[in-house]
Amino acid sequence: MQVYKFGGASVKDAAAIKNVAQIVSSIQEPLCVVVSAMGKTTNALEKLHFQWFHGQAFEETLQFITDFHQAISAALELETNTCLWHQQIESLRRKLGNIDKDSFDASYDQIIPFGEIISTSLLHDYWNKIALNHQFVMATDFVITDNLHRESRVQWEATQKKINGLKNNADILLTQGFIGSTTNGEWTTLGREGSDYSASIFAHCLDANQLTIWKDVPGMLNADPKKQSDAQIIEKISYQEAIELAYYGASVIHPKTIQPLESKNIELRIASFVNPNLLGTLIGNFPGLQYPSCYIEKENQTLISISTKDFSFVVEDNIVEIFNQLHLLGIKVQMMENSALSFTMCIQCEPHKLNALITSLEHKYTIRYNEGVKLLTIRHYQISDLLRMAQQSVLMEQKNRTTVRWVIQ
Ligand code: ASP
Ligand code: MG
Repeated sequence: MQVYKFGGASVKDAAAIKNVAQIVSSIQEPLCVVVSAMGKTTNALEKLHFQWFHGQAFEETLQFITDFHQAISAALELETNTCLWHQQIESLRRKLGNIDKDSFDASYDQIIPFGEIISTSLLHDYWNKIALNHQFVMATDFVITDNLHRESRVQWEATQKKINGLKNNADILLTQGFIGSTTNGEWTTLGREGSDYSASIFAHCLDANQLTIWKDVPGMLNADPKKQSDAQIIEKISYQEAIELAYYGASVIHPKTIQPLESKNIELRIASFVNPNLLGTLIGNFPGLQYPSCYIEKENQTLISISTKDFSFVVEDNIVEIFNQLHLLGIKVQMMENSALSFTMCIQCEPHKLNALITSLEHKYTIRYNEGVKLLTIRHYQISDLLRMAQQSVLMEQKNRTTVRWVIQ
């Protein structure tokens, strides 16, 4: 059994969907195909949910989502009225009238999954048309999570039990990434960009031989090719190195993807749907590899410095207090540093969260911050990297034997 994952860009229009069908039909093994919402549909659904939640007009957004899929459906010459994807739009509309507004996050999870559900339904309609044999599977019936909405955690035992029922399937399974449900059947989501993780959950529970994530890049590169024209593909990466790279922000795979694969020694291939014959990058149990310098740049960061108002030291209990707020607000710290009188950290810039953080701490602390800074990480850095950076105005720096990180203007 193999698992293939196709993200939003690989199903963004009719040509892309035809390409996916070609890739899927060229494999001779049982296959589980995990698919994301088409193009930028999840963003549109987030807008729809926001408008609905705040009692604003949302018809136009819903129409936009419908039209986007309608155009693809028409280009694939599907008969809309008999299509499953179209029925899903109707269920979305019904849901908007039925669910209650008690909680933003819980209601988010009843609406946003429609991106993946409509997407896979449209693929199902198309695969039926071209007689590509498959079984349509609702991931919400198989991926069981807790009810921490929008960031739900997998209940492995329950999920494994459910997915066991799919194991001896000779067909192609077609299912959704990103979504699951609680044991009560309430829908949940695994966090934005979570479809890679879903694919890894299916691979783990199906005891797959390999997971392939199909991307618009030829594999994992050591730098962003838009910023560095000499970026090169890394052909083989160990699980550990891949986790480190994902942790530091290499956006090719979702950070949670590796662990379920590693525990069963399932290899992960990052391949290009543009050039399916290229080998891409293979991630697995490969000790002792040498790596080129890897450059990871995260823009739009905020550097915050929190100091006591009375000139007292910033000690453990202050840090506990600060971290409690960070946890409550769901703010992820990228890098941090402590000195006698202040605690400094770099976070992803989200103005509403930053404001809430300041409000919760300003009675006790003086808070200064710098918005719009960049976080640059180099794994396996060279002396020349250090020399080059010495010319720049660096706001914060951290270095160990393998990794150097800078916050810069
Ligand atoms: N559709 C979801 C998102 O855009 C999940 C994913 O694409 O991985 O965040
Ligand atoms: Mg996506």
